[in-house]
Amino acid sequence: MNRFLTGVLVLPFIVLVPLALATLAPGTGAKDQMKNNTPDAAQGDPADPSSTVAVRVFDTNGQLVGPISMPRVQLTEDEWKSRLSPEQFRILRNAGTEQAFCGTLLDNKMEGVYACAGCGLPMFSSDSKFNSGSGWPSYYQPIAAENITERRDVSFGMVRVEIVCTRCEGHLGHVFDDGPRPTGLRYCLNSESLTFTQDDRLADLGEVSDAVFAGGCFWCVEAVFEELKGVYSVESGYTGGDGTPAYKDVTSGTTGHAEAVRIVFDPKVISYEDLLRVHFATHDPTTLNRQGADVGTQYRSAIFYRDDKEKAIAEAFIADLNDQGVFKSKIVTTLEPLDEFHVAEPYHQDYVCNNPNNGYVRAVAMPKVEKVREKFADKLKETAQPQP
Ligand SMILES: [Zn+2]
Repeated sequence: MNRFLTGVLVLPFIVLVPLALATLAPGTGAKDQMKNNTPDAAQGDPADPSSTVAVRVFDTNGQLVGPISMPRVQLTEDEWKSRLSPEQFRILRNAGTEQAFCGTLLDNKMEGVYACAGCGLPMFSSDSKFNSGSGWPSYYQPIAAENITERRDVSFGMVRVEIVCTRCEGHLGHVFDDGPRPTGLRYCLNSESLTFTQDDRLADLGEVSDAVFAGGCFWCVEAVFEELKGVYSVESGYTGGDGTPAYKDVTSGTTGHAEAVRIVFDPKVISYEDLLRVHFATHDPTTLNRQGADVGTQYRSAIFYRDDKEKAIAEAFIADLNDQGVFKSKIVTTLEPLDEFHVAEPYHQDYVCNNPNNGYVRAVAMPKVEKVREKFADKLKETAQPQP
């Protein structure tokens, strides 16, 4: 269960008193008048730490993203046997070791990424590979510290540090403190524990996609997308402007940035079109530079597309809504090329979850969350189903 959900589960027990938007002063953003309220602590059971892990993975553009919370890979012995070769099974699942100087990846000099042979989690870049003379592929640092878990190993009368894959707990090898600079570490691997993908094929390792949307207050947009099945993470941030902004710069409306969210999702579970459908159902795309009482270019409705394909999908989607007359007025959502996405200050992340009693959250954000729960019931995370 994610943090957002643990927070909102208490809502059925709270008498919601919606504040009329008219009571919020118009102009520079009703939200800003609320932001200094004392945050309320999130209530509810803590998330079950055993079912998910925070790791970094490649997206479908070949970029490493995260850390994001993903399910562990837990298979039965028979399932592992059908997925792995006998030698891989012996090493990955039973902490075996391959013969020195025999591994297929020992002398691999190509540029690319080495991933866990059990679950595909990226482990090492060729940038950190070096010839240790040990007879096993050696690296001085992992591609993402989160992806490797260290365990004390006292087998064979030695005290060593075993390294396993964080997601599937497959045995990779050991780490020693006799490596080269800059880390002084030597990650000693079995070739059989790894698969290699060349740099120009990194998109093949892609497990997640991301989408960047703006639709007014990012607290609200973030809360809406957190509800959806197949969505791993939603971050609030700023994009579409110049420089690296802070919140106070963005609220001035002079930097060109929009409050936006970056949604990391599994394209096998939920599509980009589904995300567009949810976005256009949960904000007003017909009011120029405005959502309700939040006024300014920072609150504009926008789709930040990563490539021509995303742009074409969004264009066609909007044209369709206009043709069908779904909204009374014409859609004014801007389509803008995605440049840099700046993650907002930590207190903006999970804001709705962390501040369920905030007046703005109750009046503006929760109705949007209720709307997504009602209109997209079949797309909700199981834990997001409305409580009976
Ligand atoms: Zn793994």
